Amino acid sequence: MSQPYAQEQSVAISAVLKASLVARKVQDQLIGSGGVQKKDKSPVTVGDYTSQALISSLLFSHFPTDQIVGEEDSTELHTPENAPTKSNIVRLANEALSESLPLSSEESLWSPVKSQATSKSEKEWLEIIDRGNSKGGPEGRHWALDPIDGTKGFLRGGQYAVCLGLLEKGKVVLGVMGCPNLPVDPKNPEGEKGALFVAVKGQGAFQRSFTSPELTRINMNQLPSLSSASFCESVEAGHSDHGTNARIASLLGITKPSVRMDSQAKYCSIARGDGDIYLRLPVSDTYEEKIWDHSSGSLLVEEAGGIVSDMNGKPLDFSVGRTLKENKGVVAAHKDVHAKVIEAVRQAVEESKK
Ligand code: AMP
Ligand code: MG
Repeated sequence: MSQPYAQEQSVAISAVLKASLVARKVQDQLIGSGGVQKKDKSPVTVGDYTSQALISSLLFSHFPTDQIVGEEDSTELHTPENAPTKSNIVRLANEALSESLPLSSEESLWSPVKSQATSKSEKEWLEIIDRGNSKGGPEGRHWALDPIDGTKGFLRGGQYAVCLGLLEKGKVVLGVMGCPNLPVDPKNPEGEKGALFVAVKGQGAFQRSFTSPELTRINMNQLPSLSSASFCESVEAGHSDHGTNARIASLLGITKPSVRMDSQAKYCSIARGDGDIYLRLPVSDTYEEKIWDHSSGSLLVEEAGGIVSDMNGKPLDFSVGRTLKENKGVVAAHKDVHAKVIEAVRQAVEESKK
């Protein structure tokens, strides 16, 4: 008998790999062009929409009763000035459907090529994008999808990630992430790029390259002492509080400079031991973290030996809708040191209020 979630894992790997390859193709063409502007002014590109379209389409064809909580919707695409973007999405998505992927024999059983070889119309693709409109919640199965996380990194040619997590009754049971710009071997940063990460609840954390289906187990660093740790944080000072992070580092005796990286690639990075601690302390009192920004990454870190909580040490609650409204901030670290990091966070935050 196959392992729990084996089919879901195969479909998610195919979908994320397909979307990651399209995103990589688009990144070269888009850098410098600025993309489409959403109402909140965050840059959204052909890559985000095409990625969401492809992944939603593959999920729907294999698991038609599952819901999708996706970051994007087609609202902005209906304006006349976005007509060229729309036709690019349709062209890229249809091209990607028929391209073959390097998959294992089991993954090939669920190959997207077999199930979805025919092209779709513009109307069909827009409807597929809008299947990501689920409100989430504590019942049933939801896929949390960030079609391109770290859009700012994507636009500046840096790190970004295609992130897909499966939630069952509000708990993450499967996470797959594609990081097209992350080196496969962190010891060889100039070598092959394109790493795909997979975690299933209770089954461990793994990575593979974009070009070969073989999965390799990954683990977080077991630190001899906290002072030898390194922090991983957002590039964007508007997304996490760099000042308080620096104080926490000093409280823990950490002297290595923080590694700044866009997107959930930060979770991937600490899960395989490139760094050790991911801190995301809120900059604003009102911001609610989104479930698609943390579901796959948090499971990956937990399955690699870590604990992921909010800044107060409370587990992340993915069962309350599209956001983590019951949590503030995120702290991810190896299970042996997580409590110490939370204590330092508490102290630094208290000091900053004085
Ligand atoms: P990062 O690449 O770690 O900087 O995170 C990128 C993510 O930050 C995006 O996907 C957004 O969903 C999210 N984001 C946007 N505004 C904020 C904010 N004020 N605080 C925290 N995260 C944010
Ligand atoms: Mg995101």
